[in-house]
Amino acid sequence: MTENVRVRFAPSPTGPLHMGGVRTALFNYLFAKKHNGTFVLRIEDTDQTRYVANAEQYIIDSLDWCQIPFDEGPGRNEKFGPYRQSERKELYKKYADELIAKGWAYYAFDTAEELTAHRNDHEEKGKTFIYNWHNREKLQNSLSLSSEEVTAKIAAGEKFVVRFKSPKDEVLVLQDEIRGEIKIDTNLLDDKVLFKSDGMPTYHLANIVDDHLMEISHVIRGEEWLPSLALHVLLYRAFDWTAPKFAHLPLILKPVGKGKLSKRDGDKLGFPVFPLEYTNETSGDVSRGYKEDGYFAEAFVNMLSLLGWNPGTEQELFSLEELIQSFDLQRVSKSGAKFSPEKTQWFNQQYLQKKSDKELADLYLAILADHTIETDSTYVEKVVGLVKERATFVADFWDLSNFFFVNPSEYDPKASKKQWKEGTPDLMKELVTVIEGIEDFSSENTETKVKEWITAKEIGFGKVMQPLRLSLVGALKGPHLFDIMAMIGKQATINRINNAITTLS
Ligand code: GLU
Repeated sequence: MTENVRVRFAPSPTGPLHMGGVRTALFNYLFAKKHNGTFVLRIEDTDQTRYVANAEQYIIDSLDWCQIPFDEGPGRNEKFGPYRQSERKELYKKYADELIAKGWAYYAFDTAEELTAHRNDHEEKGKTFIYNWHNREKLQNSLSLSSEEVTAKIAAGEKFVVRFKSPKDEVLVLQDEIRGEIKIDTNLLDDKVLFKSDGMPTYHLANIVDDHLMEISHVIRGEEWLPSLALHVLLYRAFDWTAPKFAHLPLILKPVGKGKLSKRDGDKLGFPVFPLEYTNETSGDVSRGYKEDGYFAEAFVNMLSLLGWNPGTEQELFSLEELIQSFDLQRVSKSGAKFSPEKTQWFNQQYLQKKSDKELADLYLAILADHTIETDSTYVEKVVGLVKERATFVADFWDLSNFFFVNPSEYDPKASKKQWKEGTPDLMKELVTVIEGIEDFSSENTETKVKEWITAKEIGFGKVMQPLRLSLVGALKGPHLFDIMAMIGKQATINRINNAITTLS
């Protein structure tokens, strides 16, 4: 690709960014980086009625957490700024005027009541009201009214919108980088509003004008915008501007059932749909986030990258750098991508295994502090090394390893009933003596010594090992028993066995 690649992520700040939005941002980022291009963040906040104050910051924080920073955007390299459409609002009117002057758009004075009446009227007849070529000359607009009437209405301060004049009887042949050729009959298009009575452009006008002014080369966005493509291409034609290339990403589908993944699926099945926790400022409702649920950003990003894209190989684990190298719009599928919460956990588990014990220990130390445990990081590092293969999240460590830090406070009743028998206390007392005599308390040496004793006694290993595990851990779980003993040390081992003897006998 020799052209200068400039892509944009253009969210509307109407609430928290859904993971589908993050996927769109990610694909834009990967495409930009792959082609040494620029990734722009533009805030599309022209719809004042849906504006949510903390949403923009949420979007920026989410991109930061995912480590897919934008190169240009609000407060950053403002070469084509401002990047908030609300701060550009003066700019759009002249473009609406230009389209009117060229005959590609017209003033429409139909009131909301009149339009509702038309809609209802059509509905009664089992039809749908579409404002376009077939009726526009009968409605209240500058196509049906004389220019004197139009001027008078505007001078009298009557409210108007500007509508696009969709062409009649034309078959548009549109190109999508993912979907290929798409044919659209222009007679089916409605004359969309470009400019509203409140003096603000609609999404369509602002989006096209900004993509043009910001020199966007590729528009990569969600499939839900595909129905707008014809209008957008027509707008480029009307302005006599070169259109960017378009790529519409497939939907992210529910894990079970049909349709688009929604927040409700997350609530029902117990997974987050947002990257970060989000507090709704009006209702106070808190929505879960991947970050707060304990996911690593890299795992989340890796999982998202494979929702709709595939590398053409079996490889599933990709660093961000590898994703940049491998990403290709040609390998984005047309059909929806099913989201899997289990697979997402699998990614996290894989990334956790790849982290060093030191890195994980640092994260675990914070959890230990919450349990008011003071310990040193070398010890924690060793613990992490012993249990991490069974962990998916850092938060799993406590359950997997609390017995390295605290004495068991209770003993699993079922296991105790089964493993703590009549002869067990005497056996354990004898074991304490054996342990007392062990000088080198390394895992290997202790194991040899204890096993020698069991063999000499000619009893089954289970008779000793199971009650011993119960004494040290409080349950029949945990890593290699002699590793645990070596870690907690001789005295703690003896104390725990004695405690079990007192409590369980
Ligand atoms: N503001 C639109 C959105 O919220 C942008 C769509 C586009 O990328 O053109 O998704």
